[in-house]
Amino acid sequence: MNKFAKTAFNAINKQIAAVKDSYLATTLIGGTAVGFYMASSYKQKDLGNRKASIAMAAYAGIAIHNTGKVLLEKYQRDNRKKVFMSAELVDELVAINNNATKFKAQLEARTVETYKGYPVVVWDDYVALQLQIPASLPMCTAWLYNHKTIIMSQAAYDQDRNTVETVFEHEIGHMVLGHSVDHSDPLGLEFEADEYAYDQGKDIVKALRKLRLDCIIANIKYGHSISITTLNQRIAVARSLSL
Ligand SMILES: [Zn+2]
Repeated sequence: MNKFAKTAFNAINKQIAAVKDSYLATTLIGGTAVGFYMASSYKQKDLGNRKASIAMAAYAGIAIHNTGKVLLEKYQRDNRKKVFMSAELVDELVAINNNATKFKAQLEARTVETYKGYPVVVWDDYVALQLQIPASLPMCTAWLYNHKTIIMSQAAYDQDRNTVETVFEHEIGHMVLGHSVDHSDPLGLEFEADEYAYDQGKDIVKALRKLRLDCIIANIKYGHSISITTLNQRIAVARSLSL
């Protein structure tokens, strides 16, 4: 029985290794292994084979441990994929950024619409690199002063139209007000741009609350540690605008 269990254990672990890239398959196979060993353990106990029963329980423990380890590894792998980009990609983006002609061509190719005369560019990698937050976050939006262009990630652009337009107005606010990314009080600039969006009749409080919720969800879901302190401050200031 012990030999059979060992063979089965190895076979099951091989399968777990083979399906590493699916959470569901890993959980199913891991769970099946655990169930198999626990059932065997109880069966051996009923038969009065104390030693065999303990061995089976130990195998169940190892199966739980291995399944958990594989799931954790996959989680960490996926998470890294979402947060970081390869060194080659960063080099490529920096090279494009430093070549005015290439950069302009990229912006033109990636322009999805023009809002109140401002081109809207969707470019995940560039905006994620610039803001140092994952492109999967809907708050991944910025402005390019020299190009009078709004730039954002696909996730940001895919939000409901009201939120998207509120974000457009915020970024336009930065440009209209002549903001510089090198300003000594970056948060003060955010307050001003939020106020500009509010003055254009947009519900900036609602949009900021949505972005804050998205950040909280991303932090829990993907283990990011994106601070919501700034968003909290911006919401507090934006709320005072309507008082
Ligand atoms: Zn801003």
